[in-house]
Amino acid sequence: MTSFFQPAARLGRIPPYLFKAIDEKKEEVRARGVDIIDLGVGDPDLPTPPFIVERMRKAVKDPRTHRYPLYSGMNLFREAVARWYQKRFGVELDPESEVLTLIGSKEGLAHLPLGINDPEDLNLVPTPAYPVYQMGTIFAGGYCHFMPLLRENAFLPDLNAVPPLEARDAKAMFFNYPNNPTAAVADQEFFARVADFCREHRIIAVHDAAYTELAFDGLKPPSFLEAPGAKEVGIEFHSLSKTYNMTGWRLGMAVGNREVLAALGKIKSNIDSGAFNAIQLAGIAALDSDQSCVAENCRILQERRDLLVGGLKKLGYDVDPPRATFYLWLPVPQGLTSMDFAGHLLEHAGIVVIPGVGLGEPGEGYVRLALTVPKERLEEALHRLGKIG
Ligand SMILES: *Cc1c(COP(=O)(O)O)cnc(C)c1O
Repeated sequence: MTSFFQPAARLGRIPPYLFKAIDEKKEEVRARGVDIIDLGVGDPDLPTPPFIVERMRKAVKDPRTHRYPLYSGMNLFREAVARWYQKRFGVELDPESEVLTLIGSKEGLAHLPLGINDPEDLNLVPTPAYPVYQMGTIFAGGYCHFMPLLRENAFLPDLNAVPPLEARDAKAMFFNYPNNPTAAVADQEFFARVADFCREHRIIAVHDAAYTELAFDGLKPPSFLEAPGAKEVGIEFHSLSKTYNMTGWRLGMAVGNREVLAALGKIKSNIDSGAFNAIQLAGIAALDSDQSCVAENCRILQERRDLLVGGLKKLGYDVDPPRATFYLWLPVPQGLTSMDFAGHLLEHAGIVVIPGVGLGEPGEGYVRLALTVPKERLEEALHRLGKIG
């Protein structure tokens, strides 16, 4: 029977979903009654801090928050973002033209290519990576030149390896530090090189900074906008999701180059009508707070990191302790693919991890573990790993 309709051809350009086999095995193992430890999802298990929830509760009772928001975001929220960027990074932003409120940063990352790319345009995209950079490019009719993130380059893209034609043609370059999935951190020197590269080749730099606040051992990862001239060539996406355990609330921001933000804003104003004002008011409370809730968050994650890394080392795994994010990018044992290893852990230990190849070809040889379960569960996971050898 022929189907009622054919989906748009662009959906056919979405790369194959590689986690199907793992998803099916997970259901099968769960059906057997196995108590599954899910280290697959990058979604904080810890709740949003109570003072933020309380601010939301008050805000949602105020009928003034019930109407359409301003598409670019409440002035008060954009001012709070500018204050936070100044305090945290020493970066000056004009709240009117250099800050845009988003319904989560994924929304902005996905819509950006519609505002900056013409069909057939080329974007430079890291791999392995958060899939949205590629998907947004595809939905705008564009193409990706992939920049592999390799251990020998500290999981930074090698800018010298971008071929001259691609460097000439590229419209935008996506990058993300602290990085999902590799947990790599970039320094200001790298960001300065990216800014120079993008200026030289007239490429829009698009930095995803979702994890700057989740860092360990006192590390304070930089913003791309700290790099000299960064604002002339690019924008940065940030989010309250990971910093304040607010993934379900959907609140983020794009900051930096005003022309690029205006292009994104024009797309958004014709698609969505902005983030719920009550959520933005709660976001202001979060950004203006003394950030002790963030420090507490990092303390808990660092404890989990130390427990998991220490335990894995004892079991003979070759693993570097991550300096930021809540991920562990674990090399798989010799002779196994990342799919094999993930399947093995699920089958024999009831542990879910993400096979690196599913996030991009150079992710082969790694699996991603998320520190988003309590310590007791990590202890149980280590205990099971010890048993299967
Ligand atoms: C979680 C995450 C985000 C944040 O997404 P939101 O839409 O703001 O919740 C952005 N980038 C990366 C790489 C992430 O892992």
